[in-house]
Amino acid sequence: MPQHDAVSPDAALARYERQYHELKAALATLGYFCKGTVLSRTLRCGRATCPCSHDRDRRHGPYFEWTYKSAGKTVHHRLSVQEAKVYQEGSAQYRKLKSLLRRMENLSRRALARKARTR
Ligand SMILES: [Zn+2]
Repeated sequence: MPQHDAVSPDAALARYERQYHELKAALATLGYFCKGTVLSRTLRCGRATCPCSHDRDRRHGPYFEWTYKSAGKTVHHRLSVQEAKVYQEGSAQYRKLKSLLRRMENLSRRALARKARTR
């Protein structure tokens, strides 16, 4: 039977296996994670005599807020500067997790299709 693929099925599977192993290794380095985003904002206090009323650079803050969805509702949490750093890192780890899962799923789909064809 002629070989249509440039690489043999086993070579392709070996490559998928290698890539999958790398993704699993990256997953193992994941830190604590949390859904949502941490936003910083500056506010006007509302007093007409305060410089914040006309100068953007002199608004109060920054204030940090962690926003995430829970049971279909958006939840807002006010954070201190110190807390904001922690949750920013957690949210970055969550994005990393999602990206790794997406790549693992894509790779799995190709690998499974390959296996299904060759067995
Ligand atoms: Zn003010």
